[in-house]
Amino acid sequence: MARIVMKFGGTSVADLDRIHNVARHVKREVDAGHDVAVVVSAMSGKTNELVGWVKGMPKATGANSPFFDAREYDAIVASGEQITSGLLAIALQSMGVHARSWQGWQIPIRTDNAHGAARIEEIDGSFLIKRFGEGQVAVVAGFQGLSPDNRISTLGRGGSDTSAVAIAAAVKADRCDIYTDVDGVYTTDPRIEPKARRLSKISFEEMLEMASLGAKVLQVRSVELAMVHGVRTFVRSSFEDPDAPGMCDAINPPGTLICNEDEIVEQQVVTGIAYAKDEAQISLRRLADRPGVSAGIFGPLADAGINVDMIVQNISEDGSRTDMTFTVPSADVGRALAVLETVRDTVGFDAVQHDDGMSKVSVIGIGMRSHAGVAATAFKALAEKAINIRAITTSEIKISILIDGPYTELAVRTLHSVYGLDKH
Ligand code: ADP
Ligand code: ASP
Ligand code: MG
Repeated sequence: MARIVMKFGGTSVADLDRIHNVARHVKREVDAGHDVAVVVSAMSGKTNELVGWVKGMPKATGANSPFFDAREYDAIVASGEQITSGLLAIALQSMGVHARSWQGWQIPIRTDNAHGAARIEEIDGSFLIKRFGEGQVAVVAGFQGLSPDNRISTLGRGGSDTSAVAIAAAVKADRCDIYTDVDGVYTTDPRIEPKARRLSKISFEEMLEMASLGAKVLQVRSVELAMVHGVRTFVRSSFEDPDAPGMCDAINPPGTLICNEDEIVEQQVVTGIAYAKDEAQISLRRLADRPGVSAGIFGPLADAGINVDMIVQNISEDGSRTDMTFTVPSADVGRALAVLETVRDTVGFDAVQHDDGMSKVSVIGIGMRSHAGVAATAFKALAEKAINIRAITTSEIKISILIDGPYTELAVRTLHSVYGLDKH
């Protein structure tokens, strides 16, 4: 008998039929004798609708949060998961499974106070362990928790993955199964490249890079938690027949296992390609080249909660002036420009230019640590397709390249093919 946390994403609970189908997946594991806790997302599209409603409201005077009043934002957008947790509990009860829904605050899932993007700080597993003891399937609303100010908090978009992994760690589950609309983690987004292949295993480090660099199949924080707590996490499909042979295999269920790199026998040089659209490039022209300039720019941007990503600096010929280029999410450009205006006099620069609609494509693989020439291959392949490179950053296991947005799909497919990822 194992202890399993099963998480179902938005498309998996998109309507009543799909919720009934999810209940069959859960019942299968219960019938096999396992202790089961379930985490659900809102029905697909629901959270977007709720966010849209918040954004459609007039902004309170003096409010400077992009979420308006972030506490009310959380009260509203957390509601989607309340509905699906209740509906799934009813569907399970109708099949004779002893089930009950629970909201984040009832467990409680304690978070910090960063409303809209809260981090889980503590889950006392004993609440859910007690439910296992009663033979109950707890259906937990994902994406939400309880903040220190005693209010509902949410964990940032895609946060139900993190709810599930954190619960799995808290109850010391044998497995956390993330059910979604694809049957695992692929070499790249299968919606962009139909030739993408499913990986049977991927290391925590590579999955962390894939998720951070845009592969939204798992929320970044969920991968961090899985890595830190050693949670055995599988990404698998809820769209397969719940009772197909092998679906209930306790050791090797169908899907992709996220695991330590030493569990992966055949390590490739490149494991996957990720992309992130809606990046913007901001360039400061003719900056004074003296100590403290970078701190004078990036400190205030960080204070404003703006996530700066790639940074490139060029020294001018006479060495006295420099150009600084960096990227931020397109949604933050307006705020970033406003912050830069406030430091223009102290930092000293001639002009600010910005360009929206950029994309970042990234090549990821642990094998890059020991193989040279991976970056050169990418640059050559993109050049052959006449794709202009705007900026480059690298780390030990990834290369990220900033390009013009309209070339995203072409760049992803080109890189996917040049490293042989589409070959079986
Ligand atoms: P859920 O609603 O179940 O949380 P998401 O939409 O958040 O599902 O994540 C699943 C989606 O992630 C897939 O439909 C797929 O388009 C996308 N995706 C992006 N990159 C990858 C990848 N490398 N492997 C698998 N799916 C990916
Ligand atoms: N429903 C939330 C969202 O759409 C959380 C999740 O799906 O993981 O972001
Ligand atoms: Mg998701």
